[in-house]
Amino acid sequence: MLEGIEVRLSCRYPVAGIDYATLVYSGKLDALFNYKYGRLEYRSLSFVQVPHQLHQHAVNYCDKQVPYTRDVDYRHFGGSVTMREYPVLHTDHNVPMYPVRDHVNLDILAKYQALHTSAIVGGRLGSFRYLDMDKVIAQAIHDAI
Ligand SMILES: Cc1cc2nc3c(=O)[nH]c(=O)nc-3n(C[C@H](O)[C@H](O)[C@H](O)COP(=O)(O)OP(=O)(O)OC[C@H]3O[C@@H](n4cnc5c(N)ncnc54)[C@H](O)[C@@H]3O)c2cc1C
Repeated sequence: MLEGIEVRLSCRYPVAGIDYATLVYSGKLDALFNYKYGRLEYRSLSFVQVPHQLHQHAVNYCDKQVPYTRDVDYRHFGGSVTMREYPVLHTDHNVPMYPVRDHVNLDILAKYQALHTSAIVGGRLGSFRYLDMDKVIAQAIHDAI
């Protein structure tokens, strides 16, 4: 699929000195525009290993009094540990995971979406929308044809 296409790993866009005809961008929309209208907010996760095994692959915790949201036992996917997920705010030091789609952020999003770019922008971060993998793949196929 990537035959004839140069692949460079571990470098962040924008990369100085790279010339391209088409840019497909799947990073954060606010970063693409250098945070011109401020930062879009994301929730991230802090993962802590816990000793117990689960009968099922995941248990969700919805109670406000419980500080964690999910336990996932990766033994059910070929892994060897159970990890507990604590919600944290996204900073420059962790991964943006879940877009905070409240009115404040949706107003900022609308401003970014109104800006012109020649890039093909998509994916979970580019759309500022939580998308499961099948939705992202469908979006990519749609944009490609
Ligand atoms: C905690 C969590 C659990 C999930 N579980 C499921 C699940 O069980 N089932 C499911 O279907 N989906 C799940 N998803 C959703 C799934 O991860 C996404 O649908 C999918 O990864 C989105 O693909 P993407 O290409 O848009 O984004 P990503 O997979 O996030 O890829 C974007 C890539 O762009 C890179 N990037 C960003 N900015 C730049 C830049 N400036 N320069 C260079 N590279 C950059 C990032 O490093 C990353 O590699 C989960 C998501 C999260 C956060």
